[in-house]
Parts: sequence; structure tokens; C-alpha cells
Amino acid sequence: MMRAPLAPGDVLSLLFPQRCPFCDRPLPFRARIRAPLTLSGPDDPWIHPACFPGSLLLREPLCLKCGRSLGEEGGTFCPDCRDKSFHFKQNRAVWRYAEPVRSAVTRFKYHGRQQYAVYFARAWLDACREYLEQIRPQVLIPVPIHRPRLRARGYNQASLFAYELEKLTGIPCREDLVIRTKHTGAQKDLGPAERLRNMENAFRLTNPPAGITRALLIDDIYTTGSTLETLSRLLSDAGIPEIYTATLCISYGKPIP
Ligand SMILES: [Zn+2]
Ligand SMILES: [Zn+2]
Repeated sequence: MMRAPLAPGDVLSLLFPQRCPFCDRPLPFRARIRAPLTLSGPDDPWIHPACFPGSLLLREPLCLKCGRSLGEEGGTFCPDCRDKSFHFKQNRAVWRYAEPVRSAVTRFKYHGRQQYAVYFARAWLDACREYLEQIRPQVLIPVPIHRPRLRARGYNQASLFAYELEKLTGIPCREDLVIRTKHTGAQKDLGPAERLRNMENAFRLTNPPAGITRALLIDDIYTTGSTLETLSRLLSDAGIPEIYTATLCISYGKPIP
């Protein structure tokens, strides 16, 4: 019986199986063959069909600022964005931050599951392709993490997500423009105003963004937007007129006032 020879990548994937981000169990072998981008949603071979968190997808109408679903009430902005002004024009995400997305993102961020970035980029592009075509960013800028943190963790999850988006879209990922100058700690117990204060001077420009007029900032979770707002303000002050943002998911938890 004739069998197709294994490519080096196939052998590697036998040793290090590709895992479904939502349950962390290995995927069948067919999933490890690069699938066409048109296959997405529950049929994407980079997940188990039954694991697809369809109920968490952010469905239209969306808040024109943060990208949260507005639900049946509709309108233009969600209550969180109504009274705020931002230096970025708009954020778009794929899912609501709840199980199983929450655990998937935690493993991606803290437990070495860098490989999830491949599927996360596919899912983001599938959900937000029209947005990307409208805003036409020239560069992708992942939110940097503080260097000691990067050394301890070994990677920046936002960069992994951005580099996978670069592969799919051809839009270059730029990590040379900004660095994080302080570790701002877990912000989950801080209210919106405290978050912004905590983020002050958290980033520094390392290169002028010469010639860049439209940038897409990349992060994993949107909570109050304070991290993306702080970075947007810096890049806007540095001369980038149009700044947009992309995250995997959006938290709906009410920040403590
Ligand atoms: Zn699964
Ligand atoms: Zn909003």
C-alpha cells in the first residue's frame, strides 16, 4: 500500500501534537496539515468541532468603540464606552471572555501553550475580516510586556498572536517601536480610573513610527481598554493618526468602581 511520505513538520507534530485550545486535548492528525483559511468556525480543523464556543461569539450589533455585543437594545456604544474618549478609533474581538475561552487564554498566556496562536489568528481573521479590509493597517503592533516578565515567561502572547496574523495577512508585525518600561501587575481588582493611573508611563517609544499612518495594536484581552488606550496615546502623540486595536476576547465583568 502506498503511503505519502511524512514531511518533517508532520514528524514534529506527532511528537508535539497540536492541541485544541478549548479542551487542550490533541487534535486528530488531519488537523496538523495546514488547512485552507476558508475553513473556520466549528469546521476549522485546528479545533474539535464540538469545542467551538459559538455562543460566546460577539455578534452584531457591536459597540463601535470596544466591539462588545450590544444585544437587542442596539445603539452605538456600550455603557462602558459611552462617556469615555480614546486615542484608538475602534477595537474588534472574537469572543466574550468566559469559559472555555477564559481557560484557553490562561493556558496560552501563562502555561506555555504558544501553539494556540495559530488558531487564535485564524479565528480573529475569520470574525473580523471586513474590519481589517476597512481599516487597512500598515503594521501590527503587539502590546509589549516588561522585559523581566518576558524572560520569566519566555514569550509574549500578544506577539505570538500578531506574528500569526502577519503570516495570514502579510501585514508586518513591528516589535521595534515600543517597549514596556514597567510591570503594571494584575489589574483585575482595579477600577477604570485606577487602571489608567497604574498604566501611566508604562510604555516608551524606542523608534519613531516614521511613515505609519494606520496601525493595528494587538492584545489578548480587552477589559476596560486602559492598556490599549495608554499605548494608543503614546503612538498617537508620536504621530500615528489612525490607531485601531484587535483582541481575542472582551471581558464583560464589571470593573470595580
Ligand atoms: Zn477540543
Ligand atoms: Zn464599548
